[in-house]
Amino acid sequence: MPAVPSITIQEALTDIEQQFWLDEQALKDISRRFQELFHYGLANHGAEMAMIPTFVTGVPDGTETGTYLALDLGGTNLRVCEINLDGKGGFTMKQEKYKVSDALKRGPAKDLFDYMARSVDTFLTDYGTSSSDDELLMGFTFSFPVEQTAIDKGTLIHWTKGFDCPDAPGKDVVKLLQDALDRKHIKVRVNALVNDTVGALLARGYQTSGALLGAIFGTGTNGAYLEDITKVKKLNLPSGGPSHMVINTEWGGMDDERKVLPVTIFDNYVDRKSIRQRNHVFEKMISGMYLGEVARAVLTHLMDHLVLFKGFSSELFNTMYAFDTAYMSAIEADEEPASSPNCATRKVLIETMKVPAEHVSDEDVETVRKVCRIVGTRAARLSAVAVAAVLDHTGNAQSKSTDDQGANVGVDGSVIEFYPHFEERLREALRILLGEQGEKRVKIGLAKDGSGVGAALGALQAFKQEQSGHR
Ligand code: BGC
Ligand code: MG
Repeated sequence: MPAVPSITIQEALTDIEQQFWLDEQALKDISRRFQELFHYGLANHGAEMAMIPTFVTGVPDGTETGTYLALDLGGTNLRVCEINLDGKGGFTMKQEKYKVSDALKRGPAKDLFDYMARSVDTFLTDYGTSSSDDELLMGFTFSFPVEQTAIDKGTLIHWTKGFDCPDAPGKDVVKLLQDALDRKHIKVRVNALVNDTVGALLARGYQTSGALLGAIFGTGTNGAYLEDITKVKKLNLPSGGPSHMVINTEWGGMDDERKVLPVTIFDNYVDRKSIRQRNHVFEKMISGMYLGEVARAVLTHLMDHLVLFKGFSSELFNTMYAFDTAYMSAIEADEEPASSPNCATRKVLIETMKVPAEHVSDEDVETVRKVCRIVGTRAARLSAVAVAAVLDHTGNAQSKSTDDQGANVGVDGSVIEFYPHFEERLREALRILLGEQGEKRVKIGLAKDGSGVGAALGALQAFKQEQSGHR
């Protein structure tokens, strides 16, 4: 008897499919759990799904004007932008991207923030338009969980997405940035700290006059929405102030306790090898940083059962994170017959992942496509739960009046933008969660450059709030 239980590829795939499939009940259970945790996080500090008050108390309507800077530290790039708002929902932008090396991502915080200040300096020298006496306002898009205490103050809770400067958690990231700018005598005042989801929400609001949810499905995932301020119990705000506040949910941390999340052994593998184990498991099932790695875990499992590539791997398939989510996108976009010698899937396997051609059968091509579809579909369905849960929680799941404007959602990120069929699959699950009518009224639009124009809008909103005394 062989030591590895013998199994056919069909059996193996059926098993994987079952583990990754989210049926109606699972979708509804997760949505319910989401809403419990929204309530919990709004009332308690330190929750795993943090429900961070952003102190942004308004969403723009498109009439705003002015010139602002934005600095965007996301998962992948550092960007500096100068944004000109035209007051008609449009804007022009100059921008430059700067690479963030792994050494900077994991070294002392000062090095990272000095590098950011240097990038701002370079940008202003090359592109800056304002005269040297003006103090420029800058919105800082910082796409990590921060405990905010004001629109321009917040301490890093912990890093995500592969960043790990050990001395940064617990520090005010606006101060770190402002100090670095001041050391270089750069005349810029950072007056707003904006998560990328908040940026997406503000940008979508500016472009379409009013939005309810900003969501990122990119390297990481998260959502921010406009909340009734009386529900933000943990702030104990006096009455008479603003009526709403944007909440950054940090839904990547939804159900880290795993009460309902159907975490597979493949997810556990990815989690165990990640920088922060047992944290942001929801995000690890959805976002671009991890999807390829989850798929790689499944594919190597099939190799180990000798039902893929005749049981052979390649050095790259044995390398963590070598199977990029972008390859899954290419594979999912591939509609050629599996027998075609030049189909995109075969190219990824043989040319990119260096699997010897003689080990790649037509059936293997089909198998790899199927695994990508399984992993990608689960991600889209989980994303739908997050969207539906926010709509439900805010009373926007169904139309409220005859002149219903629908539910306006701004999205950004590589997965929603480039992963084939993602939105279509997300919508399919929305139909299950919200019903036919409910799904139809959800208007999902790309808040393209949410992290740039959104940060500028954040700086503008902060300035308005400063002027009106509501900080
Ligand atoms: C971070 C969020 C961010 C999201 C999308 C997550 O890892 O915790 O703050 O919004 O990625 O970039
Ligand atoms: Mg980004």
